[in-house]
Amino acid sequence: MRTAIYPGSFDPITYGHVDIIKRSLAIADRVIVGVLGNSAKRPLFTASERVEQVRLAVRGLRRVEVESFDGLLVDFLRRKHGSMVIRGLRAVSDFEYEFQLALTNRRLERTAETVFLMPAERYTFLSSSVVKEIARLRGSVRGLVPPHVASALKGKHRLA
Ligand code: ADP
Repeated sequence: MRTAIYPGSFDPITYGHVDIIKRSLAIADRVIVGVLGNSAKRPLFTASERVEQVRLAVRGLRRVEVESFDGLLVDFLRRKHGSMVIRGLRAVSDFEYEFQLALTNRRLERTAETVFLMPAERYTFLSSSVVKEIARLRGSVRGLVPPHVASALKGKHRLA
């Protein structure tokens, strides 16, 4: 049983993340999406909102579970008996940060392997921050995030 952990802030989840989750199912028996609770980036959505958004986005994908976690990724990996960490690579700009993260995790846990997956080309420009910026400026995020996330973004900005 190969369990993969796909960690991130998912603030909010986009179709780029969903693409990576689907691809990871080809190399793992079970994928646990780990939603970072104590993100250093001040998130727009609370951890429980983000978990719910991810759950709805992966509904229908058997073998995918969603959980929030705090603390070190390697501790979460051990607790879940995970054998690999999944991360997405969009462009060279992601590489330096991801490289540092992967090697840090390996330093903390010798057996922690990070697997990088590339999304479909149409999602290579897509990030949660781009989506938040579009929504903040009242633009359309259709086709970039699932409909329930688009509504949640609208809701946030209506309140703001
Ligand atoms: P973090 O705050 O940990 O970077 P994110 O939610 O921004 O969390 O991203 C989680 C992972 O998903 C990262 O590896 C990131 O590179 C990847 N990712 C984000 N957006 C995309 C996308 N459009 N295509 C592929 N991978 C992506």
